[in-house]
Amino acid sequence: MSIGKLSSWGRYPRFPQTGHGIGWRSELPGELARVAAEHGTLLPFGNGRSYGDSCLATTDQVLHLRPLDRFISADWQTGVIRAEAGVTLDEVLRLAIPRGWFLSVTPGTKFATLGGAVANDVHGKNHHVRGSFGCHVRRFGLVRSDRGRIEVAPGDADGLFAATIGGLGLTGIIDWVELQLMPIKSSLVDVVNIRFDSLDEFFALSRELDGQHEYAVAWIDCAARGASAGRGIYMVGDHAPEGGLAYDDKPKLSVPLVPPISAINSVSLRVFNHFYYNAAKPGRHPGRVGYEPYFYPLDRILHWNRIYGPKGFQQYQCVIPESAGGAAIGDMLDAIAAAHSGSFLAVLKRFGDVASPGLLSFPEAGATLALDFPEHGDATAKLFANLDAIVRAAGGRIYPAKDAHMGGEFFRACYPQWTQLEALRDPALCSRFWKRVTQA
Ligand SMILES: Cc1cc2nc3c(=O)[nH]c(=O)nc-3n(C[C@H](O)[C@H](O)[C@H](O)COP(=O)(O)OP(=O)(O)OC[C@H]3O[C@@H](n4cnc5c(N)ncnc54)[C@H](O)[C@@H]3O)c2cc1C
Repeated sequence: MSIGKLSSWGRYPRFPQTGHGIGWRSELPGELARVAAEHGTLLPFGNGRSYGDSCLATTDQVLHLRPLDRFISADWQTGVIRAEAGVTLDEVLRLAIPRGWFLSVTPGTKFATLGGAVANDVHGKNHHVRGSFGCHVRRFGLVRSDRGRIEVAPGDADGLFAATIGGLGLTGIIDWVELQLMPIKSSLVDVVNIRFDSLDEFFALSRELDGQHEYAVAWIDCAARGASAGRGIYMVGDHAPEGGLAYDDKPKLSVPLVPPISAINSVSLRVFNHFYYNAAKPGRHPGRVGYEPYFYPLDRILHWNRIYGPKGFQQYQCVIPESAGGAAIGDMLDAIAAAHSGSFLAVLKRFGDVASPGLLSFPEAGATLALDFPEHGDATAKLFANLDAIVRAAGGRIYPAKDAHMGGEFFRACYPQWTQLEALRDPALCSRFWKRVTQA
C-alpha cells in the first residue's frame, strides 16, 4: 500500500519519499522483500522528525512504520513496557503519566517514534544523569531481509544490539521495542532559570549545578556579538514531588502553509533574542511548569518547520570534547553571529560521561551546541564549512540525525566504527545520508 510522499523535518534536501504503509507486524517481512525486489534498497521511516537526510532512502522508497502503533505489554509495577515501533513518545506518555511513569530519556519532540528514537539513540536534557535513549532499551524485535525476524538483547553474539542503537535504520526494521520507564510523582517540573552573561559563566553554572538536577540545558543568544556574546539562560529542572499526574492534551496551534520566504531572518532573530534574554531578570528564578512546555515547547505549534519557507532549513548540532569546549563554542558563536544567521532556539548543553550501548551513538562527554539555519545555499554551505573546521580542530563531531551536509571524510574520521555498522547493515537498506558519508 503506497501512502503518498514523506519528507524529513528540515525539508532539506528535497527528495520526496514514497511511503509504503505497514498495517501489521506480520506484513513486515513480505513488504520488505517486495519493495527491495522492486527498487533494490529502501529504508524504515518513523515520523520524519529527523532534520536531514538520514531518514531519506537512496531510492526514495521507505517503509512507513508509524501505523504500527499498538502496545504489546506493560508492567506498571516495574515500568517496563513493550510496544510496536511506530508508537510515538507522546503515546507512551499518555498511558504512562497517569500511572506514575515517564520516559527515562526524551528528546525535544514527543512526536518521535520508538523505532526512530532507537535508530538515532536520541538524547535529552538529562544526558548527564541517564545517558541516551538506548541505555533504557531492554530488547527489541528486528526484521531483516537476510535473516527474517529475530529478537535482539544486549550482549547478543552478532553485535546487532549495539549496531542498531544509533544504527540509523540500517541494520533491519525494528518492529517492537521493550523499554524501561522512570518513576515520577508528578507530571509537573520544578525549574530554576538563571541568566548568564558569558560562556565562562555558563560553564561555571553547569559544573556547579548539573549534578544536582535531573535536567539541565541552556538557551543561548546566537545573535549577540561583542561584549554580549555568549549570553543566555541556563535552566535546570526536576520532576516535582507533588502536583498530580496529568497527561497534557491541550489543543495545538498550527502553521497552515509554507510562506513564500523564510520568516526567520537577521532582524527577526535579533529582536526576538533581545526580548527573550531581557525578559529573564538577573538572579535565580524558581518556578513550576507542566511537562509539555518544559520538554516540548516546539511541539505546541504543529508544522512549525514551515516557517522556514520553501527552501527548508538545516540544523547544525555538534559535540565538542570537554577539554576544548569553551573556546570552540565561543569561536562557533562568533562565526554564526558574523554570518547574521541562526535561530531563536539555540541550545547548549554539557553531555555527561554515561556510555551509550550504541556503536555509532552521537553523545560523548562534552558540550553540545544545536541551532537551526534557514537554507541559503552557498551562504549556508560557507558558514557550515567554517563551523566544521572549528569542530574538527577541537576533536568534536556532528549528529547524523540532524545532518544534511557533513563530508564523508569528516564522518569517517569522527565515527571510525562505521565499518562495523556497514558489515552488519541489512543489504536491502540504505539511506541518502549513509551513501553520502560512506561513499563520497
Ligand atoms: C522539535 C524537535 C526536537 C528534537 N530534539 C531532539 C533532542 O533533544 N535530542 C535528540 O537526540 N533528537 C532530537 N530531535 C530529533 C529526533 O528526536 C530524532 O531524529 C528521532 O530519531 C526522530 O524519530 P522519528 O520516529 O521521527 O524517525 P525518522 O525521523 O522517521 O527516522 C529516523 C531514523 O530512524 C530510522 N527508523 C525509524 N523507524 C525505524 C524502525 N522502526 N526500525 C528501524 N529504523 C527506524 C530511520 O530509518 C532513520 O534512520 C528533535 C527533533 C525535532 C523535530
